[in-house]
Amino acid sequence: MELEPGIHQLAHGLKPFGIPAPNVYLIQGTDASMFIDSGWDNEDDHAARMAYLKDVGGPPLTGVLITHRHGDHGGGALRIHQDTGVSTSAHRLDQQAIEAERFGGAATLDSILDGGESFDLGGLTLQVVHTPGHTVGSLTVLIPERNVMLSADTVLGMTTTVVRPSEGDLGKYVESLHMLRALKPGLIYPGHGEPLIDPDDRIRQLIDHRIHREEQILAELSKAPQSIDQLFQTIYPNLPEERQRIGKEQVESQLIKLTNEGRIVADGEVYALK
Ligand SMILES: [Zn+2]
Repeated sequence: MELEPGIHQLAHGLKPFGIPAPNVYLIQGTDASMFIDSGWDNEDDHAARMAYLKDVGGPPLTGVLITHRHGDHGGGALRIHQDTGVSTSAHRLDQQAIEAERFGGAATLDSILDGGESFDLGGLTLQVVHTPGHTVGSLTVLIPERNVMLSADTVLGMTTTVVRPSEGDLGKYVESLHMLRALKPGLIYPGHGEPLIDPDDRIRQLIDHRIHREEQILAELSKAPQSIDQLFQTIYPNLPEERQRIGKEQVESQLIKLTNEGRIVADGEVYALK
């Protein structure tokens, strides 16, 4: 569907953890078109994307920009590349994971981004901003002509963002939120779900949520030194079985952030206030 002239949103396939299917954005200037993300890697989703592209017409497709390493965002990029020959690009810090996990070693990225690049599509410009956190190589794309931001999973409307210690960084995530807020977008097109019409309010809520979690952990540790499992039981009571691993990873991410900031110390598996 065309959200506004030249900005199309496609959402096909599986809903990860019950949130809406990943959004793929097709941005069309007067000279060129680009996909921001590619959705899942499967034949049906790929066919639906190619059919949409054919129906909508417009200037030639020149590339797929992958916002980050996850399969719901970068999974289909290899099929698009193989089918159309267009270039693939992503951030340097997610490069290895994308080439190994998404491309299965069958291709390398055509262009490695660091943030700060821009793609001129004719009348619409894609400005690439490095917003590490959800993954260390997560990217956000601004379209200054419209004052809109494509936030991928860095800012979502229906849930907070998962930050796993193995691939992300909570300290950097909070810094990225502050940076995005300072850019004052008029509208956010997120990686899942509906456009966010009050970006400032939503980003502020997400920052407040992390502060709240941090205060909870510090309050718990002020009672007694505790392990990740003990903190998890208090902070995420009644979490369904399939979400428990992710919940523990969120606690761990918070503990890493607080340790890096010198506010807590680890003694083996047990964390204590400094
Ligand atoms: Zn993701």
